[in-house]
Amino acid sequence: MPELNLILLGPPGSGKGTQGERLQDEHRLPYYATGDILRAAVKDQSEIGRKAQEYMDRGDLVPDDVIIGVICERIQDEEASDGFILDGFPRTVPQAEALDSEMERLGRTLSVALLIDVPDDEVVRRLGGRRTCVEQGHVFHVEFDPPAEEGVCDVCGGELIVREDDRDDVIRNRLEQYHEKTEPLVVYYEGKGILRKVDGARGLDEVAEEIRGELAIARAEGEV
Ligand code: AMP
Repeated sequence: MPELNLILLGPPGSGKGTQGERLQDEHRLPYYATGDILRAAVKDQSEIGRKAQEYMDRGDLVPDDVIIGVICERIQDEEASDGFILDGFPRTVPQAEALDSEMERLGRTLSVALLIDVPDDEVVRRLGGRRTCVEQGHVFHVEFDPPAEEGVCDVCGGELIVREDDRDDVIRNRLEQYHEKTEPLVVYYEGKGILRKVDGARGLDEVAEEIRGELAIARAEGEV
């Protein structure tokens, strides 16, 4: 079976994380989410974490040189030799170019760039209502998945808060950054003939099903 080297594209709150985790289980491939990697680095206060924190709190992108090395290292790992799923990387054209040259150096190619498309007002609704447990990071939503008791985590009793980058003004900035810096990647990957699109505004299961269909088409057409 050929490698599946998959990139997930889409605005914040489009469900890349949820779909990425499902794909990881289905395809038994490592899943690398740069947002998660950076949040862990901030928590550990590692050198990368210290550099990234202020950008993340504002909803800005961290500088390309901070993140490129992190991902280039992961895709060379033995566990990624049959493929990988990237969520949140690349997010700029220079990051995409750096990934291309690293893949070329390794004699590998990207299989599919999958865009999970969601309109801005839906992103604001999803992220604005998200509540995160300060203790263990469990996630709830005031509308779609409310906790039994307001402000308290059902799982561990920890306090539920609005994550710094889920504040309304920060969400708006994250969306602006997405449109300005990440959306050009749609054209970039279209030009390379590997872009596939799904409508992410629907339920999780429907989106997962559409992704399965798109990957099956890519496989039939020899892209995977
Ligand atoms: P996410 O959880 O994917 O929305 O990422 C959270 C934050 O991490 C973003 O708002 C950025 O500040 C930072 N981040 C994640 N991935 C990247 C990337 N590829 N390039 C720059 N910044 C990133």
